[in-house]
Amino acid sequence: MARKMLSDGELNKAAAAGEEATTETHYDFDLFVIGAGSGGVRAARFSANNGAKVGICELPFHPISSEEIGGVGGTCVIRGCVPKKILVYGATYGGELEDARNYGWEINGNVDFNWKKLLQKKTDEILRLNNIYKRLLANAAVKLYEGEGRIVGPNEVEVRQIDGTKISYTAKHILIATGSRAQKPNIPGHELAITSDEALSLEEFPKRAIVLGGGYIAVEFASIWRGMGATVDLFFRKELPLRGFDDEMRALVARNLEGRGINLHPQTSLAELIKTDDGIKVISSHGEEFVADVVLFATGRIPNTKRLNLEAVGVELDQVGAVKVDEYSRTNIPSIWAVGDATNRINLTPVALMEATCFANTVFGGKPAKADYTNVACAVFCIPPLAVVGLSEEEAVEKATGDILVFTSGFNPMKNTISGRQEKSLMKLIVDEKTDKVIGASMCGPDAAEIMQGIAIALKCGATKAQFDSTVGIHPSSAEEFVTMRTVTRRIAYKAKPQTSL
Ligand code: NDP
Repeated sequence: MARKMLSDGELNKAAAAGEEATTETHYDFDLFVIGAGSGGVRAARFSANNGAKVGICELPFHPISSEEIGGVGGTCVIRGCVPKKILVYGATYGGELEDARNYGWEINGNVDFNWKKLLQKKTDEILRLNNIYKRLLANAAVKLYEGEGRIVGPNEVEVRQIDGTKISYTAKHILIATGSRAQKPNIPGHELAITSDEALSLEEFPKRAIVLGGGYIAVEFASIWRGMGATVDLFFRKELPLRGFDDEMRALVARNLEGRGINLHPQTSLAELIKTDDGIKVISSHGEEFVADVVLFATGRIPNTKRLNLEAVGVELDQVGAVKVDEYSRTNIPSIWAVGDATNRINLTPVALMEATCFANTVFGGKPAKADYTNVACAVFCIPPLAVVGLSEEEAVEKATGDILVFTSGFNPMKNTISGRQEKSLMKLIVDEKTDKVIGASMCGPDAAEIMQGIAIALKCGATKAQFDSTVGIHPSSAEEFVTMRTVTRRIAYKAKPQTSL
């Protein structure tokens, strides 16, 4: 049975009243959250707003060191989306400066990029956001404990503080919101490689960078470093990067990365990393040799659940260590819940926020709510970016119950006609012919993420192609292509799938 404790305030009150500090049916908190990232902070605040007494624990924030992956704000704010986007903005100026010349801007003399300056500005901003997140918790009367949490019973969390002392808190409900952490494949010399944690805080700018992986982080960092002037070699196992995205978009991303000067090595992995006086010698799976200042492994992330003592408490995990939950984010132990990357559903910040909101509504708001995973839009912030919502062409064909219409528009953005940049944008709509509903949209090109958010609302509302067509465009813009694609690029006839007998 969980050990029951009284909070300081309650102990004081009990002492003042001359009562004995008894431990019957009392919990320190209605909710204790482990992990103050996007999901944890949202769940804590919204639960508190619903009247719950909430505690939350998180490791302290080290702006540079990646020894501890803590910090209120979590991966997104401290070591993910936000600092990455700051670096993407920084890198984008590289291309913009080149493009500016034909627009009449005379750039005389050297144009230098100062990595240390951007790094400092980035760190200042992350510290500011870290403080804002702490303030958000305090304003919601959520009690923050700086330390590492582990579950020691269905209603008890132990927090190991920075000085090593351990304190236990009891809670009616416990929420696991510990996110995910980068993983490195066991390639000889892998200890010489860094992950995105370190890549965001490198003391020296890597003039020669090697990136392993073809996912979000790989193409984003390849774009960042190249945009800032580095020589970048990108190695990935498949023919094209970004497995799982629309093939035509993947091909364009690859072409654009190459166009921006990134050396692509498809169907190639790394065999060995060796430290030399000149940097890190890298031997590819084809036996070629390269030398780099930095080697980034962007080879996926795993749920951050190892140190939570979950097996001992009986919380079920899947084969990759993700916490198994039902549609309401509840584990097999009724008092324990989990949201975000720790559950490995759709590993995106806004999805963790949605799951956390549903959790707070379900447990403390009296409004049981399931997260809705349909039409979740997302963007890859390579340069130029890719953004999608709904089905890719391949998924549409796979899931189809009727014919599919594909509309595409590939064009050189107006800005490029003067700048002279040779870089195509591509937009695509996938339509279910029978219902005329738009079931997928994607775009690779400048501002794709900004444009796709609006398209995502249309898909969420079940918009038809006829409704897209009857929408008046904003002229001149790239976005107007989404409402002017009149001609079908291809029609994919439905092929009945062979029946499988049981
Ligand atoms: P991803 O899962 O997106 O991609 C992992 C990549 O690593 C794949 O290309 C995979 O190749 C490759 N890989 C895996 N193991 C090996 C190996 N042993 N050798 C060589 N290559 C390997 O992971 P990321 O690390 O890029 O990102 C992690 C998650 O973070 C994403 O899934 C996303 O959820 C989130 N994220 C979201 C962002 C956004 O919204 N913009 C930005 C950054 C991250 P293969 O395809 O062949 O399996």
